[in-house]
Amino acid sequence: MRTLPQLELHVAHACNLACESCAHYSNHGHAGLLDPAEAAAWMDAWHGRIAPRTFSLVGGEPSLNPRLAEFMPLVRARWPETAIRIVSNGWFLHRHPDLPARMAADGNAALFLSVPHASPEYRARLAPVEALLEGWRRDHGIVVGRYESHARWTRRYRGFGPAMAPYADGRPRRSWERCVARDYPQLHAGRLWKCPAIAYLGLQDARFGLPHAWRPYLDYRGLAPDCDDAALAGFLAAEEEAVCGMCPADPERFEPPSPLRAHRRDAAPA
Ligand code: SF4
Repeated sequence: MRTLPQLELHVAHACNLACESCAHYSNHGHAGLLDPAEAAAWMDAWHGRIAPRTFSLVGGEPSLNPRLAEFMPLVRARWPETAIRIVSNGWFLHRHPDLPARMAADGNAALFLSVPHASPEYRARLAPVEALLEGWRRDHGIVVGRYESHARWTRRYRGFGPAMAPYADGRPRRSWERCVARDYPQLHAGRLWKCPAIAYLGLQDARFGLPHAWRPYLDYRGLAPDCDDAALAGFLAAEEEAVCGMCPADPERFEPPSPLRAHRRDAAPA
């Protein structure tokens, strides 16, 4: 059994927001909800080999999955000691009135509100979400945290949709050293992936047909559950890899436009 600090699971690829240069590509209008039965099969394949200290239900926006609460007992049944986190932008948590009671019953589940924009307009519109979460905290005693995710926001790739381009700075070590996503491996399609940027790159290719420059990175396949122990140990210990070459060696801070806008119209149809 190998311990890892963190493991994330996309329970929805779709997102109601459109944060420019999202590391999960959730600003690109992807669809798709994970079925709990499929997630259970993925977990079964790794249960007994890995033990994540924290297991995060993410997306996309996880609350777009109407079966969100069903994923918690799946995780708990396999990893009794793990801390479960739900990371949400909050807008649709009101669709899950049973969630706080189920989190409270779990005993080691927390909800983190991700705040991707610092504008007064965004904060004002978040007020009903904050009121809802305050009620959950008061009435159910659940732990509610907050990520000011805009504070670390950098450009992860150039361009958008079919015109998206990798950085290809040729300094993968420096890209990895300065990467804010490097500690977030993903469980996706039954495999372990180094980070969201490589896990969901295939979704981008399927939707847009990415340019040739992405081919070397699209060849990355993630780690299959029938791998041997040496391969698993190597995966967990790996620092920079060739795929890190797609990311910026000198991440650029920028002022992202409001994520409340509609998905970009120059995106290809689903
Ligand atoms: S490929 Fe490497 S540098 Fe890029 S997001 Fe993943 S871990 Fe970070």
